[in-house]
Amino acid sequence: MIKLTTENTVKAVAKCKQLKPRVKFVKDRLFVVYSSNNSNVYHVRFDVKNGEKFGQCECRAAEKGLVCYHIVAGATANIYRQSLKLAK
Ligand SMILES: [Zn+2]
Repeated sequence: MIKLTTENTVKAVAKCKQLKPRVKFVKDRLFVVYSSNNSNVYHVRFDVKNGEKFGQCECRAAEKGLVCYHIVAGATANIYRQSLKLAK
């Protein structure tokens, strides 16, 4: 899992805003993100440990330890979902 910080998500956030990939909620902290460039589908997972956020993706960038836009897309959906839960 990759630790998500403000610094290492900057580029991915910009790319995510540009590409606007579709995100589907699967369960808990698991999401499916559809690639904007091709027909690839990535499973994105999240975890929180000691107040720090972690993300995982199946794409090549994430395998290298980089935060990809799939993770950001999933994280955005995750935050949105959490906020809906809190609103109940
Ligand atoms: Zn990815």
